[in-house]
Amino acid sequence: MATPQQKKQCFGADPVACRETNHYREEYIEAFVNKWDALIDWESRAQSEGDFFINVLRERGAKRILDVATGTGFHSVRLIEAGFEVVSCDGSAEMLAKAFQNGRQYGHIMRTVQVDWRWLNRDIHGHYDAIICLGNSFTHLFSENDRRKALAEFHATLKHDGFLILDQRNYDAILDHGYTTKHTYYYCGDNISVYPEHIDDGLARFKYSFPDRSTFHLNMYPLRKNYTRRLMHEVGFQHIETFGDFQETYRENDPDFFIHVAEKA
Ligand code: SAM
Repeated sequence: MATPQQKKQCFGADPVACRETNHYREEYIEAFVNKWDALIDWESRAQSEGDFFINVLRERGAKRILDVATGTGFHSVRLIEAGFEVVSCDGSAEMLAKAFQNGRQYGHIMRTVQVDWRWLNRDIHGHYDAIICLGNSFTHLFSENDRRKALAEFHATLKHDGFLILDQRNYDAILDHGYTTKHTYYYCGDNISVYPEHIDDGLARFKYSFPDRSTFHLNMYPLRKNYTRRLMHEVGFQHIETFGDFQETYRENDPDFFIHVAEKA
């Protein structure tokens, strides 16, 4: 019996011209979503980040957490297991379905909501102690308006003393000095290559290659660290601390990833 043709990623005739916020849903097709856990490798990722996020949340007394970039559920599941109350959102139905499946495997029924960050408050009611937006997700927004809108929605969804944890690649280093990676954090899977095929001030196009020779791409906006911090300040976050690869002190070019902890009050 013929199997239905699998959906493929489609970036149009000129993939480098594809710089569109709404395109993320087309990028996380089922075949790529099914590979995501091999890419991030839950066990290695948990080891490499340790209890960093759990500690940041606990130190600030957070209990109710909104995971706005759930993906396949890695952080939602970790936080549920650590005793937090978690609601898990994502704009991609494919990702959320996979997260729910993963949650079941760990013995949890995840509370999932499919929603785009730009209209978060349409579907998310009530206020949270903390929002997490992790795994270099914010980079999917291509216009400044979209970034401001998403941050403002996050801000409005937090309690008066709530905070946002948002991470990003160290694009400054890539734009200014070229791409290198320690491959220690985030994408921990074996024999998987993650490489920027194209980089300019408005686009970082990454290629993900898997051992079975399948390849996928993500088109992302290369956020500079201080630009992200400025936007957070401008939408009303009062205090922002930025870690480099989970450390408080670092040399600007060294970390692969930055993690911002932005407090509302
Ligand atoms: N946090 C997960 C991880 O670390 O494995 C997933 C990271 S993945 C790079 C980015 C996620 O952000 C995807 O699941 C994608 O669907 C979601 N996303 C991107 N733009 C979004 C938007 N505007 N609204 C809601 N979700 C969005």
